[in-house]
Amino acid sequence: MQRILQPGEIEALDHIDFPRVRLPQPATLFQERAARLRQLADGHAIADYLRFAARLVEAQQHLASRAPTPAPLDAGVARQAGTHGMPLLPASGNLPPAWHDTLRALLAELKGDIAVPAGLAPVFSHLAALDNPALDALARQVLADNIGREELAAAPLVMAALQVGFATRAAALSVKDVPFAEPATICPVCGCAPVASVLRIGGAAGGHRYLHCSACATEWHMVRVKCSHCESTRGVRYQGVQDAGAEPAGKADTRQAVLAETCDQCHTYRKLVNQEQDPFVDPVADDLASITLDLLMGDTEFARASSNPLLAIEKPLAV
Ligand SMILES: [Zn+2]
Ligand SMILES: [Zn+2]
Repeated sequence: MQRILQPGEIEALDHIDFPRVRLPQPATLFQERAARLRQLADGHAIADYLRFAARLVEAQQHLASRAPTPAPLDAGVARQAGTHGMPLLPASGNLPPAWHDTLRALLAELKGDIAVPAGLAPVFSHLAALDNPALDALARQVLADNIGREELAAAPLVMAALQVGFATRAAALSVKDVPFAEPATICPVCGCAPVASVLRIGGAAGGHRYLHCSACATEWHMVRVKCSHCESTRGVRYQGVQDAGAEPAGKADTRQAVLAETCDQCHTYRKLVNQEQDPFVDPVADDLASITLDLLMGDTEFARASSNPLLAIEKPLAV
C-alpha cells in the first residue's frame, strides 16, 4: 500500500543535514562519465565497447551544452506530485519535446566514427528513417525495458538521447519541488529505476548512499541498510568480484569500489559504487565496466534488478 507522507513528516525530513536529492549537473556529468569510461577501458576485456560508450557520452556532453532551456515547471504539477507521493514528471508521459532532434544530432555526430562498431551502421540508418511518433513509441519501449530483439542495438542510442533531455530538465528543477515519491526505489523526478547506487564523499552528501536514476541522473538518498529494490532491511548483503567463492555470502571485502548489493527478500542485486574507495567512480560507467561481477552473479539466485542504460541485454530482469 502506498504511504503518503504528511506535511509534518516532510518538514522533519527536510531538516536532515545532508541533501535528500542531488539534481544532475549535465555540464560535468557527461564529461566526467566519458573520462571514467576511457580510464576503465584501458586493458579491459570489453575495451572496445567501453570506448564506444565513452564516445556516446561525449556526444551527450556536446548535445547537453546546446540543449534548449526546459520549460518552467508547472506549479500545479509539483503540487499534485507532492500531494500524491508520485514522481514529478513520469518519463514515458513526459518525453523531452526536443529529444528527436537530440537523437538525430547524436546519430549525425557519431556516424562513421571509428569508435562506433561497424555492425551498428544499419541501426543508425533505421533510427534516422523513423518519424517522431515511431521514435516516441520506441522510446517508451526502451524506458519500459520492453525491447524486442530487433531493437536491442538501438536502445543505448535512444537512451543516450533521452538522457540528455531528461538530465537537462531535471537540472533546471528546484529540489523543493521534488516530491517524496513512493515507492522510494524509483526516481522522484521521472519514476525510472536506478542504474546503481553510489556512496558519495565530500560536502554535505559525503558518507551517504544515493540511488542514481538511469534516465535523468537525479540522485536520491536511501539508507544503506535498505534494499534498493524492495526496501527490505533484512538480508541485504554484498558481493564483490574478489569475494568469488567466499562463504558464507555477505562477507564481502568492502574495500572494493564496486560491490553487488544482494537482497534475500526479493532475490535481486544492484551495484553500489563507492567513492570512498575510488573518488572517480561513476554509477553508469562503473556498472558497465564491472560486467565480470554480473557474470559472477549469473551463477547465483540473484537477478539483476534493472538494466544499464548504455547496454541492452536480452537477459530477463527481475520484476
Ligand atoms: Zn529520473
Ligand atoms: Zn529486496
